[in-house]
Order: sequence, then structure tokens, then C-alpha cells
Amino acid sequence: MSNICVIGVGYVGLVTGACLADLGNRVVCLDVVQEKIEKLKKGVLPIFEPGLEEIVRRNAEAGRLEFTTSYDEGLREAEFVYIAVGTPSGNEGEADLSYVAAAAEQVARRLAQPLILVNKSTVPIGTGDWVADIVHEHRADDVEFAVVSNPEFLREGSAVYDFTNPDRIVLGSTNRQAAERVAELYAPLQTRSIITDLRTAEMIKYASNTFLATKISFINEMANICEAVGADVLEVARGMGSDKRIGPAFLSAGLGWGGSCFPKDVKALAHIAAMHGCHPQMLRAVTEINYDQRKRVIIKLRDVLGSLRGKTVGVLGLSFKPNTDDMRDAPAVEIIHYLQNEGAQVRAYDPVAVASAQKILKNVVYSETPYAVAEGADALILVTEWNEFKQLDMQRIVRSMRQPVLFDTRNVYDPGKMKALGFIYRGIGRGYGHNGQTH
Ligand code: NAD
Repeated sequence: MSNICVIGVGYVGLVTGACLADLGNRVVCLDVVQEKIEKLKKGVLPIFEPGLEEIVRRNAEAGRLEFTTSYDEGLREAEFVYIAVGTPSGNEGEADLSYVAAAAEQVARRLAQPLILVNKSTVPIGTGDWVADIVHEHRADDVEFAVVSNPEFLREGSAVYDFTNPDRIVLGSTNRQAAERVAELYAPLQTRSIITDLRTAEMIKYASNTFLATKISFINEMANICEAVGADVLEVARGMGSDKRIGPAFLSAGLGWGGSCFPKDVKALAHIAAMHGCHPQMLRAVTEINYDQRKRVIIKLRDVLGSLRGKTVGVLGLSFKPNTDDMRDAPAVEIIHYLQNEGAQVRAYDPVAVASAQKILKNVVYSETPYAVAEGADALILVTEWNEFKQLDMQRIVRSMRQPVLFDTRNVYDPGKMKALGFIYRGIGRGYGHNGQTH
């Protein structure tokens, strides 16, 4: 059993804190946002993440998990301090490290017993050394500490599963012993630890995320070519993905990536590269392909409907991916803005993200059901592939629409079946050759 303080109770911090408590540690989760901490003390989660509520409740009841806004309280007995605060994009695409710096300074000012600072936030290469400098600068006494980089690879929507079943734990430090002590915290997970130096660990995280984003942009570029030449990208992906050297994951053509990680991490690595005299042309192309994919929705919709002025468009799904309420850089936001700019009225439905969406999107009518979104609409766009959209009564939907245009941006539906029901169906990357349908 170790005493751990986790700074930042967002998607990463809360999952990490709750799961480390579940492994038998005593964890205090700390955040500067009072409202979040008040809610958590009452057992109410500030985010939606499957399975998390139960783990938080169980460990809080067992006395292993506490919440606070006080650094004094959080750090009192801490042997390990996890930094899991946000590192959003700055104006030039660089990672904004102000939250990391603030957290490190608070820890330094209270450094009373030796501790290991574990950095979970995704940070530019060299940040670990910089955090060590901050602690050196602000600590009152000569108390020992070490900085360990421990990048996080969990996915929102399956974060608890990913924390408990990681493919590997990456640890980087200038102090091998400190890295090994952090590795011991994960020993119950029986996974492989990769222990390396600080900068390499930080780079592994960026390299992993940008590679995954590249895979998605790659298949989207293939999808666009498939549309032009009459091939079906689903089968292309299946054919490619069966090759062991390629693998099937992250080869789903669609609207591309969004969320709080890939967009900012690809931009941040491109910025880091440029600032070190490299020319990150592939990373720039990966981003360009991704954002063009959102514009193509409008272009393709205009092809079918003509002008979008005065048309009613229904949007199914708002969050950046299923099983989360996270709206950060969700494709739905940009697509809805484009639709509104073209004069369309937008209706939307999402099983959990409406409250988050309302803070960002204006003049959208939120419907209670997917059927209400479709009723009287000129087009229905499936944006987020929530499971509940996979088994809708599509006959009811096609009958209720003013114009039966279905734009399936996640390739969830069978084009042939949709066409047979009377839809004017559009998917992504499903060319002329497939079931006789176009686009
Ligand atoms: P988040 O925005 O959901 O949470 C960050 C939390 O930190 C917020 O609750 C905020 O109030 C708190 N905070 C900010 N400054 C603070 C301070 N000085 N002291 C205490 N709390 C403070 O962010 P997130 O999505 O959990 O991401 C955190 C980090 O983990 C980022 O660097 C991100 O890139 C990385 N990451 C995220 C994911 C993901 O799926 N969300 C996955 C892997 C890595």
C-alpha cells in the first residue's frame, strides 16, 4: 500500500486515482475546481466514463479514496504525486504547460518528505527536466525527489478497462530506482513495463498518438480515393488489415479523429519538430486530411440537396466518439457550424453529451430521441457511432423524413439495405462498385 496524491481529476486523473485506490493504495485526488470536488465527495462524477462511478464509490466507502482542493491535505502523506492536469493547445499548436507548472510549483512549496513526481500528462519532450527545475527552484528545504514520466494510453469510453489491461506501462526517468518504484505500483496489473529515460518516455507518447492519427488519416485518404475510383474502403481496410504487418486497428474510414488528445498532440509534436529545425511535413498532412474530412460532409450534402439554406438537418451523435460526453474538438461541432453557416436548421440527439454540447453550440434544437431528430428532416447525418444507433427502426425513420437523405459518416449501416428502404444513402469511401450504390 502506498500513499498517492493525484493532481487533476479529469478523464485521466480520476480514472488513475480511482484505479490506483482499487489496487489497494490510499489515494487523495486533488483539483482546483471546487465544484468537481464537491460533487465527487457526494459520489457524483463530473464526467461520464463507463464503470468509473462504481469504482469511485467502492473505494471512497473503503476509505482508500478521498477528494480535496487543498494541496496541504493532498500532499500530507504522499509518497507519489501524479500530475494529470490538462496540456491544451496554445495559439501556435504548442502544448500549454501552465497547469503543469502551477501544479509542480505547489508541490515544491510543500515538499516535506521525499517523493516521486509522476507525470501522466502528455507533455513536450524535456518537460520532465523542466518540472525538476521548477521543484529545485521552489522547494524550501533540500528534500529529495525524483521525476518519472509515465504517459497515459487510456481511451475515453473504455478508460477503466484500459487502465487495468494496459498493453504496456512506459516509465522514463533519470533515476532508475524511482522508475522501478512506480513500476511496482502497477505490478498487480501483470503487464510489461518499459523503463527508459525521461525524454524517450515523453517521445513515446507523442509518437504513439501521432502514429494512430496517421493511420486514421491514411485510411480516410484511401476512402476518398475509393470514392473516386469505385472501390469499397471497408473491404480495402479488411484486406489491408489482415496483413500482420499492418493490423486491423485504426483503419475505420469516417470523419477522422477529434477529442482532447490526437488534435493537440499531432499539433504539439509538429510544433516541437519545427522548433528543433525539423520539417514535419507528414504530421502537417495528417492534420490537413483530418479537417478536410469534416468539410467533405457539407460538400457531399450539397451534391444531394443543392443549397442547404432553409433545410432541416438532423445530427445523430455529438460527442467526439461513443461512450463519452467529451465534446473537445468533436467533429460534430465543426460540421454543425458549417451547416448553420450555409443556412440549415440543425437538430441533434446524443445519449449523454447534450449538456456538454449546449455549452459550445448555439441555435441547435436538441431532441429527446433519434426519431424526433429525423422527423421532417431533409437529411440525417450520423456523426458519432453510439451503439444505440446501430439497431434503429430505419423504416420508421425513412418514412418520417421530408427527404430521405442519410449520410452515414461512420459506415455503420449496410448501403444496400438502406437503399432498399428508400434512403438516398451516402457513406464514406464506398464507391460505385459496391452494391451498385454511388459514393
Ligand atoms: P481534463 O481537462 O479532463 O482534466 C484536467 C484536470 O486538471 C481538470 O479537472 C482541471 O481542473 C485540473 N487542474 C488544472 N490545473 C490544476 C492545478 N494546478 N491543480 C490541480 N488541478 C488542476 O484533462 P484530461 O483529459 O484528463 O487530460 C489530462 C492529461 O492527460 C493531458 O495532458 C492529456 O493530453 C493526457 N491524456 C489524456 C487522455 C484522455 O483520453 N483524455 C488520454 C491520455 C493522456
